Amino acid sequence: MIVGGGTAGWMTAAGLSHVFRNSGISIELVESDQIGTIGVGEATLPHLRFFNERLGIDEAEFMARTSATFKLGIEFRDWARIGDAYVHPFGDYGRDLRKVAFHHYWLRAHQAGREGRIDSFSLPVMMCEAARFGMPSADPRSVMSSFSYAYQLDASRYAAFLREYAEARGVIRTEGKVVDCALTAEGGLVDFLRLEDGRTVTGDLYIDCSGFRGLVIEQALKTGFEDWTEFLPCDRAIAVPSRMTVENVPYTRATAREAGWQWRIPLQHRVGNGYVYCSRFTSDERAREVLMSNLEGEALADGKVIRFGAGKRKAQWVKNCVAIGLSSGFLEPLESTSIYLIQAGITALAELLPTRDMREADIGEFNRVMDLEYERVRDFLILHYHATERDDTPFWDYVRTMPIPDSLAYKMELFRKTGTVVQYKDGLFLHPSWIAVYLGQRVVPERYDPRADGVSEVDLARMLSEMKSMISGAVDALPTHEDFLRQYCPPEMA
Ligand SMILES: Cc1cc2nc3c(=O)[nH]c(=O)nc-3n(C[C@H](O)[C@H](O)[C@H](O)COP(=O)(O)OP(=O)(O)OC[C@H]3O[C@@H](n4cnc5c(N)ncnc54)[C@H](O)[C@@H]3O)c2cc1C
Repeated sequence: MIVGGGTAGWMTAAGLSHVFRNSGISIELVESDQIGTIGVGEATLPHLRFFNERLGIDEAEFMARTSATFKLGIEFRDWARIGDAYVHPFGDYGRDLRKVAFHHYWLRAHQAGREGRIDSFSLPVMMCEAARFGMPSADPRSVMSSFSYAYQLDASRYAAFLREYAEARGVIRTEGKVVDCALTAEGGLVDFLRLEDGRTVTGDLYIDCSGFRGLVIEQALKTGFEDWTEFLPCDRAIAVPSRMTVENVPYTRATAREAGWQWRIPLQHRVGNGYVYCSRFTSDERAREVLMSNLEGEALADGKVIRFGAGKRKAQWVKNCVAIGLSSGFLEPLESTSIYLIQAGITALAELLPTRDMREADIGEFNRVMDLEYERVRDFLILHYHATERDDTPFWDYVRTMPIPDSLAYKMELFRKTGTVVQYKDGLFLHPSWIAVYLGQRVVPERYDPRADGVSEVDLARMLSEMKSMISGAVDALPTHEDFLRQYCPPEMA
């Protein structure tokens, strides 16, 4: 029984109906049109491609139906200092050599004053700057294999698209507002849900996709919330679509503002914009003013204030209820991680799907995996705020000097001293992501790995020059992002 039909609900319904086809498991989704969905969430990570692929979804059709564009990364403006800009790309920097990460070779040349930005060694960054796009290659010898991509899409259309997919595979949709959640007298498991019109719906496992309200996981089961607002103080957003007036670029933009940051997400038919801000440091009126005065095209709506708090449920799976989506927690959309976390929840659930008797081992493993995912995203987000030199507003002064989790302090110190990026097996954001944000935010290592001295000066200069020209040659051969979109997934296809 899936409770809620936003992006989380329909992704879960589509994912599980595919994985458990012919298994005898029946899936029902209850949602209320009267309540509606949150209606934001447009930038994604490359993992969504693999989710869709696994479901057998045709990419061009999906993109046309959701008005999607390609996304090669996120451009951050004004984060470390006003006037700074860097891209966090979905791809590698250069090529590692003799088991030493590329950025150490770059750093060696950089320290010697022979290389400028590391960006010239990233194909996706150069593609973003040139507003060009082409599909990655599967051939590891090709420079075109050095990147991945995601989408910028209309999330409401994506949910509708997945609803069609899921219903065609037997998922039953029940319209109705849940007003009560009954627990069993013995064990306190969820027994049934009562709808406003008196009907009841019941299942063996309840997947709470009811959004921020956490209808089952919190309101009924009282799981509790781990509050991370001390580290991620932004607690409100205003979202406004605007008319597209400039060339369509293959990336999302996040521009730091006086009390938070503003997103710009280009879709095929419009631009999604929003200001994520901290109510301790600015008012709703001022936030609206900042957002509206920084739109490129005409605003297509007034935009409502959305309230939230950073953190996660103390447990994501409790008794016979699993929380997926906003009901499980929230981390601001700075790195477009929410839809990824939905996907991670669906994957973990599919791997651990219980029999009727919930096993503690499955529950424990699910919660361990999801806690790790959340914590790793949290640390990465905090890095963007904390690694700043800005003290021009009380907000930036606070985030620059605030205490940070030990796990992040350790990572930052290690990189600063030695250039080493902490490795981990599970979780999001690998080496290139951390390097992009560290260097982009002026956290530059004091020294490089001494093994990078194993290459002679001449060989290093030749290697770096060859890499750069290979990348610029590849970019020059690509069509513009707009031309590629027009040819690959025009709106008429929908
Ligand atoms: C400002 C902002 C910007 C964001 N940007 C991004 C982004 O760029 N990228 C990204 O990945 N994520 C982003 N997110 C997160 C993203 O919006 C969510 O992860 C995603 O929309 C999933 O939401 P949901 O399905 O969990 O909840 P919702 O969309 O709120 O859906 C909840 C569902 O539960 C139903 N429901 C609730 N109560 C009841 C009831 N009593 N009875 C019956 N049904 C009920 C509702 O009708 C609805 O169908 C953003 C979030 C915010 C707040």
